[in-house]
Amino acid sequence: MGVETLGDNVITTSLDKLVNWSRSRSLWPMTFGLACCAIEMMSTGAARFDLDRFGIIFRASPRQADCIIIAGTVTKKMLPVILTVYEQMPEPKYVVAMGACACSGGVFDTYSVVQGIDEYLPVDVYIPGCPPRPEGLLYGLIKLQEKIMRERNSFGAAIGIGEVVNNA
Ligand code: SF4
Repeated sequence: MGVETLGDNVITTSLDKLVNWSRSRSLWPMTFGLACCAIEMMSTGAARFDLDRFGIIFRASPRQADCIIIAGTVTKKMLPVILTVYEQMPEPKYVVAMGACACSGGVFDTYSVVQGIDEYLPVDVYIPGCPPRPEGLLYGLIKLQEKIMRERNSFGAAIGIGEVVNNA
C-alpha cells in the first residue's frame, strides 16, 4: 500500500493498482479486421462512439499494440497471419473475440473456417452477436478493463518478479 498527498488530499493505492489502472486506461488495439464485424469495430472507433475517450487508440504496428480484436471470420488460410501478428505483440497482451464467427465459427461450419479463435489464442473477452453493435464492443472492452484491474502482482511481473495472477 502506498500513500500520496495532493495538497490537502490523501490518495492510498498499491503499485499493482497503479499499473493495472494505467494499462487498462491505455489499451491500444492492433489495427486489424477480418470481415463484416470489422466494419462495426471501425464504427466504434469513429466519432459517434469514440473509443478514444476510453484511452483505446488503434495502432498500426503490432509492436505498439497490447490488444487484438479478432473482428470477423477466421479462415484457416488467414490463421498463420493472425498468429504471427499476435506473436509480434509485446506482453502483456489481450485478445477479444468479436462476433459469432470469431467466438465459434458462426454460421460457417465448413472445412475452411476456424471454429473459434480460442482454439489458437487465449481469449480474454467474448462478444456474441452477428454482428455485435458498437455498444456491444464497447461493453466488451469495458469488461476487459475491469478484468485487467483485477490482475495481481502486475508490478512484480513488470520488474521481473513472478508472474501476473489473473483473477478472471
Ligand atoms: S459474426 Fe456476422 S457480422 Fe461478424 S464476421 Fe461473422 S458473419 Fe460477419
